[in-house]
Amino acid sequence: MSMAFIDLQAQRRRLNGAIEAAVMAAVEGGAWVMGPQVRQFEEELAAFGQAKHALGCANGTDALILPLIAWGVRTGDAVFVPSFTFTATAEIVPWLGATPIFVDVDADTYNMDPQKLEAAIEAVKAEGKLTPRVVIAVDLFGQPADYPAIKAICDRHGLKLISDSAQGFGCTIGGEHPIKWADVTTTSFFPAKPLGCYGDGGAVLTDDEDLAQEMDSLRVHGKVVAKDMKAGAAEFAHDPKYLAMRIGMNSRLDTIQAAVLIEKLRVFPDEIAARMRIAARYNDLLAPHVTAVPRLPARNVSNWAQYTVEHENRDGLAAHLKAQGVPTAVYYPVPMHMQPAYARFPQGAGGLPVTERLKDVVISLPMHADLDEATQDRVVAAIASFAG
Ligand SMILES: *Cc1c(COP(=O)(O)O)cnc(C)c1O
Repeated sequence: MSMAFIDLQAQRRRLNGAIEAAVMAAVEGGAWVMGPQVRQFEEELAAFGQAKHALGCANGTDALILPLIAWGVRTGDAVFVPSFTFTATAEIVPWLGATPIFVDVDADTYNMDPQKLEAAIEAVKAEGKLTPRVVIAVDLFGQPADYPAIKAICDRHGLKLISDSAQGFGCTIGGEHPIKWADVTTTSFFPAKPLGCYGDGGAVLTDDEDLAQEMDSLRVHGKVVAKDMKAGAAEFAHDPKYLAMRIGMNSRLDTIQAAVLIEKLRVFPDEIAARMRIAARYNDLLAPHVTAVPRLPARNVSNWAQYTVEHENRDGLAAHLKAQGVPTAVYYPVPMHMQPAYARFPQGAGGLPVTERLKDVVISLPMHADLDEATQDRVVAAIASFAG
């Protein structure tokens, strides 16, 4: 029987027709753009994520650029990002003319190393060419970044903080979601993410009412929002509907996708619990056979977007597992600071030795909420049978 890396069809079967019914209801409802399901989902998402406001948008990349536009990030500004992440985290920074500064990660959690972050900020300040503005911390593979430490650094240096929870949405530290520390949490509903839809989608969450309105306007061509009306926007036209108050974009979450997400969010807490159990079982069974299993600080909950181990002969193991019918993936073989398009941007003080080691030893194994023990045992047996 062939094995899935992420089995989304098993999830669909488990939901037993609920998604199909929700999609058809959205089709029949006819409000295909910004229909009532979008508002409903935003309210439920905000409640789940412990934020005052949540806004859907077209994808997780747009979710990252919305707050940067709102804050006026531009040429001459520095935005601190990890290099060990998916392209999108850094991609939106040069879009605005700003400069991404690549910061190394912690060897245990693979998330931004707070000490390296502070050193990078201080180096940029000392050089005096760029203005430090924003830190984007990533909840890599589902594990929350060290927000208490990163937030303290942001406060000391007057920087905004974004939690890129495209992978980690739903993760917590001592029961608190990243928005407790971050100005904005962003997420992606790309199908393979832990909370995914059936296409592209994303969201921003924030407690800041003014920023929420700003991003609401930006995602729909700079439309008029309540604060603009208060400031007298209606004087520009008898119908404020077609006023552009700021230079925005078209980045909405489709009604059909919101309908899918309403169903998936209902079961998401149970799925996170299942993923925690599956990961703990993997850790127990795999520890003797690999260089390192994932390390999750005791008060953290990860959604296990990826279950990633280290092996000194990673490529050999990957080939062996492929021959055994076990799908794997490498995230990320080429970190951002080594990518052709990004190599010209600055690196934090001391370079990125941890990232450069991880890229050669990490390997991600099948992981999803429907992974049963028999399948997991096949993965473990295949790894245990690798000689080299
Ligand atoms: C997937 C991902 C994104 C981008 O999300 P899209 O919806 O694909 O645009 C951003 N950051 C990280 C860390 C991701 O994994």
